[in-house]
Amino acid sequence: MGEWIVANNYEINLAHLYGNLLNTYGDNGNMLMFKYYAKKMGIDLKTEIISIHQEFDPNKYDLVFIGGGQDYEQVIVSKDIQDKKEALTKYIENDGVILAVCGGYQLLGHYYIGANGEKINGIGALDHYTLSQDNNRFIGDIIIHNEEFNETYYGFENHNGRTFLGKGERPLGKVVQGKGNNGEDEGEGVIYKNVYGTYFHGPILSRNKDLAVRLLKTAVRNRYGEDVEIVEALD
Ligand code: GLN
Repeated sequence: MGEWIVANNYEINLAHLYGNLLNTYGDNGNMLMFKYYAKKMGIDLKTEIISIHQEFDPNKYDLVFIGGGQDYEQVIVSKDIQDKKEALTKYIENDGVILAVCGGYQLLGHYYIGANGEKINGIGALDHYTLSQDNNRFIGDIIIHNEEFNETYYGFENHNGRTFLGKGERPLGKVVQGKGNNGEDEGEGVIYKNVYGTYFHGPILSRNKDLAVRLLKTAVRNRYGEDVEIVEALD
């Protein structure tokens, strides 16, 4: 594995939201991938878990990661995240970068109907909502294509929820193989401003370098007003 030759040294702050509660199917592996690529790109990535009863400061962070959870953990987080709603919404509207996986993705929207029919409130910072399905989960390998970036993403999905996008939202990609957001409209995940939501586990960034680099580059651009210059990228 060669080193990437980069022109600058940057420092950015990542908030790992509910990192001690939301971590289905190895989602926290995304943190390792963020660190791995950040190092290669000349970025000193400072990370911090922000969990129950802890304040999220929208001005401090350049990057946020929130993983997936089973319904039990999601109910706990659903209550606490209401206290962070205003700060998170401000962060999102100010073009803050977020990667949200599965349960985390659901909680940024309006609500999620759990497998037992209970309504679990999100923060409605994004306009999607998530319904449940009876006695079924979408489980399996998934491939999607993002036409805007001309990139193909590979992963594994495992969710009961069926998510429907709303105002200002576009899918992260079009389903090539698998079920995606709801098994109906061929969309998977979401992009809203600099928020990227997805049902991919795996974890998503371990198989999708382009996405990891895009998120880190956007975070640096927001903080420093310039692009990370990758002179030579060796895999
Ligand atoms: N509980 C949610 C669902 O089943 C999210 C699961 C997850 O994060 N893997 O849809």
